[in-house]
Amino acid sequence: MSKKHIFQTEINQLLDLMIHSLYSNKEIFLRELISNASDALDKLNYLTLTDEKLKNLTFQPAITIHFDETKKTITLEDNGIGMNEEDLINHLGTIAKSGTKSFLSNLSGDKKKDSALIGQFGVGFYSAFMVADKIIVQTKKAGENQAFAWISDGKGEYEINPCTKESQGTQITLYLKDEDKHFASKWEIENIIKKYSDHIQFPIFLHYTQSKFEGEGENKKETKEDKVDQVNNAKAIWKISKNELKDEDYKEFYKSFSHDNSDPLSWVHTKVEGNLEYTTLFFIPKNAPFDLYRVDYQSGVKLYVKRVFITDDDKELLPQYLRFVKGIIDSEDLPLNVSREILQQNKILANIKSASTKKILSEIANLAKDEKTYKDFYDNFGKVLKEGLYSDYENKDKILELLRFHTNTQDSMISLKTYKDSMPSDQKSIYYLLGENLDLLKASPLLEKYAKKGYSVLLLNEEVDSFVMPNVSEYEKTPLKDASSKNALEELGLDSIDENTQKDFESLCNTIKEITKDQIKDVKLSNTLQSPVALIGEEENAMMANLMRQMGQPVPPTQKILEININHPIIQKLKEVQDKATLEDYIVLLLDSAALLEKGSIQNAKNFTQKLFALLEKQL
Ligand code: ADP
Ligand code: MG
Repeated sequence: MSKKHIFQTEINQLLDLMIHSLYSNKEIFLRELISNASDALDKLNYLTLTDEKLKNLTFQPAITIHFDETKKTITLEDNGIGMNEEDLINHLGTIAKSGTKSFLSNLSGDKKKDSALIGQFGVGFYSAFMVADKIIVQTKKAGENQAFAWISDGKGEYEINPCTKESQGTQITLYLKDEDKHFASKWEIENIIKKYSDHIQFPIFLHYTQSKFEGEGENKKETKEDKVDQVNNAKAIWKISKNELKDEDYKEFYKSFSHDNSDPLSWVHTKVEGNLEYTTLFFIPKNAPFDLYRVDYQSGVKLYVKRVFITDDDKELLPQYLRFVKGIIDSEDLPLNVSREILQQNKILANIKSASTKKILSEIANLAKDEKTYKDFYDNFGKVLKEGLYSDYENKDKILELLRFHTNTQDSMISLKTYKDSMPSDQKSIYYLLGENLDLLKASPLLEKYAKKGYSVLLLNEEVDSFVMPNVSEYEKTPLKDASSKNALEELGLDSIDENTQKDFESLCNTIKEITKDQIKDVKLSNTLQSPVALIGEEENAMMANLMRQMGQPVPPTQKILEININHPIIQKLKEVQDKATLEDYIVLLLDSAALLEKGSIQNAKNFTQKLFALLEKQL
């Protein structure tokens, strides 16, 4: 009984793409199929240790490849977990992962880049349709009796039929397109495997026939001999001692392991012996994975116990702010049948996690020795690293050292150490200003005050800054302060204004307070501003807002203090304006301008522009 199914819309989109656009790096289809076979072997290995029903199953995990030059086929077989009918529908007909939609929207149109994305997005199986116009998957799930055949030409539909198959596992036959028939050759297959899959930890056997000629002249006879070679190295590279490995070995392993086509930025390989015994191999990638900022990001770390794969889906193996790190943890101490559920509370893993975190942070610190490399790293991962400031109290200081900041005085980003080293001797704190973008921050009238004292201010323009920075109270014993807070401004010791001047402006201040009464908290005189007006915040409010944001509550607009520059001609003339209505218009305009300078937007733009137009009309 044959059953026809149609592919999910997204799959069709994807297949269309594979077949018509992504042809620059077709050979990766083999890497993807081998990686799936290896996953299937890993899964079965694990189940024979943990699942009662499969405990008695013995098998020699292996991947076997046949090809036929004349029939233009390649057949890939594994004796892993296999699939039943439901699995086939779920895994080879729909894309369960929400990642696919973002895969499609991430495509750049640049074929080379796009095909590099394929592996990353976990849509590997479908890449086989780049080279094949028909695929048959025959598969039998471990522990079940019925085998099934899945057939498709990649054009909207697939068919599933019951079939016969001796042992558990999956056999995939590709019917190559004419232009891709060259892949059905010993030389090509060997090369691709060497390039991408050498470190797959199961043996990959390639079957081929070798022609032999016997005899001489007329008696010369051709005989064919069937042969099998193991093509890959099949060594768990992390178990090899560091001294025996070359940079190339690490790079190649990284590429086959991570499906990333670029070399890693660096790696740390650690073997720990003693109380606990484990090996870790971590890579810092050059490029950010597509899902770095998605809640459902894929963990980059695989957990092994004595070389048996346990899981690649545990986001707790490393802290979240290191989620860009890829690699392997292989423990000798965990029980082999450790269930994935109890991993969370496991003391051994907690220990490994903590030591690994320190290792990785110090490797990042190493990277920072080279400014250019570090800039590449920081552009990609700096923002994520910052999250560690509130989630990893233990390593807060280490993380702080790794951060780089824009300032109002330098073009390149600097570290807190650099900032601190160049502080004038009378500067008491490290000052920062939070805001939506750099241009806006640089235009802030507040900076004028700090410039007057010769102090630099860190300009924090990322969303994460407003979460994390208020939690950082000091760096190397120097307090960090929001430059717009009263507390910070008082430290500057500016704006001491004598009583006579205070009296002189008293009436103007009162009028301003009256007109803007719900919008601002207070009006203050300043003789250090360049601009006529500026809005000043208060530290307590920033902390409060931060807390509310963390609890997912709307943050009420905070009331600020309006500073007016007593030396500015506008303010001086304002003092003389008699007509109440005119004065009111001017004050509203000034307050809105101060808000614009601070946030880049105002609440009632229409009102603002109408007042401005009226003013222009009067003047022109
Ligand atoms: P991914 O490997 O990232 O999950 P793929 O498109 O490569 O994405 O594979 C989709 C799914 O199909 C796999 O997750 C797996 O469940 C199933 N699958 C593919 N190949 C095999 C295989 N050889 N044995 C068992 N299951 C497989
Ligand atoms: Mg895959």
